[in-house]
Amino acid sequence: MTLALNNNYYNQNSDEQLNQEELNFFKKELEKQKEKLEISLKRKIEELNNQDEAKDEADHATIAIDNLTSNTILREQQKTLNQIKRSLNKIALGTYGICTMCEEKINIERLKIQMFSEHCVSCRNKLDKRV
Ligand SMILES: [Zn+2]
Repeated sequence: MTLALNNNYYNQNSDEQLNQEELNFFKKELEKQKEKLEISLKRKIEELNNQDEAKDEADHATIAIDNLTSNTILREQQKTLNQIKRSLNKIALGTYGICTMCEEKINIERLKIQMFSEHCVSCRNKLDKRV
């Protein structure tokens, strides 16, 4: 399936398809989120590196627990960042807002809530049930 979003022909055929204005909106929002996450990740990594230099034995256990929590947060943020990057990539390719499983359009209201959704509601439900 080839999609050409810079071609208005596609939009005219479907009022549900994201228009250029909406795509720009998502792109801007995603870029904002990406920037925020990258700053936050950088700060967390720096924090972790600084903690490693603390040599006080008594604090090691506390630091280890802190690191564990931080690592979980880091991993989550890293995951989100990757999702955002994938979404931005999809905007560039013209496949943003299309379910990766069934290739149906993802509801715009759903996208507004979770901008890096890659699945439509019904596929998401199927995936959730599988877990
Ligand atoms: Zn789907």
